[in-house]
Amino acid sequence: MTDEIVRVLTKEAPVKAMAITGRDLTERARQIHKTLPVATAALGRALMACSMMGDQLKGEGSSVTLRFRGDGPLGSITAVSDVGGEVRGYVQEPAVILPARADGKLDVGGAVGKTGTLTVIKDLDMKEPYVGTVPLVSGEIAEDVTDYFAVSEQIPTACALGVLVDADQSVLRAGGYLIQLLPDAGEDVIERVEAGVKKLGPVTAALLEDGVDAEELLRRTLSGFELEVVERHPVSYRCPCSRERVSTALVSMGRDELTALIREQGRAELTCQFCDRVYAFDRRELEDLLHRATH
Ligand SMILES: [Zn+2]
Repeated sequence: MTDEIVRVLTKEAPVKAMAITGRDLTERARQIHKTLPVATAALGRALMACSMMGDQLKGEGSSVTLRFRGDGPLGSITAVSDVGGEVRGYVQEPAVILPARADGKLDVGGAVGKTGTLTVIKDLDMKEPYVGTVPLVSGEIAEDVTDYFAVSEQIPTACALGVLVDADQSVLRAGGYLIQLLPDAGEDVIERVEAGVKKLGPVTAALLEDGVDAEELLRRTLSGFELEVVERHPVSYRCPCSRERVSTALVSMGRDELTALIREQGRAELTCQFCDRVYAFDRRELEDLLHRATH
């Protein structure tokens, strides 16, 4: 089953919702960053939330960045998505080992930390990006995203995210949903959504059942509503880095720094934080870049 995002509208109530399955994109992140289980779960949740939020944006070239800065051992977590939900990210300390919680689940909240901030940067291809920062609620990612929407965008939201890691540390299941109430939603609608969220329980448990995909997650959570699927498309872990982009970054260092780099090291090797691709430049290539530098 390929990762996908499904968006639905409810016919009779002011609710819009989307769900994601993200097993492959989380597994890809695990392989790139060599994350251990609690980091895999935290990063996977952040990536899926970011992918859904990216998918909500309009305008080619727009992007959304989520940055979780908690006081837990994982350090910061960064995720970036484009408008199509294509997502990438990394966690500062991927090799953290923490004991499981009393209920046997990975202690994502403990690993991220309960004190800190979530910053959301929406770059809408305009001059100034929209930036919103909220304090972390629990470090469990989904609760923090829910709170972000409530506080920073005044949108009542239900968000759930889950990553189930297998015994061999690979990702077995990953998915989540984002259900949002439009301004004219009444108390009765809120209660029905809350009841559905409660009835579904943890998303990873639902995803373990045969035939449960992103659409089925929404159908079960919003079981009392008549749903209309308005969009569905595959999503993946994707880094848009390229030699040209890295070259531009080197040029933007400026003449003085580039000259110093050539003199002191004679070469440069840059590793992309998101995909671990290494870009190497020899002396002649660096000198060509120096000619392009304008300051
Ligand atoms: Zn890259």
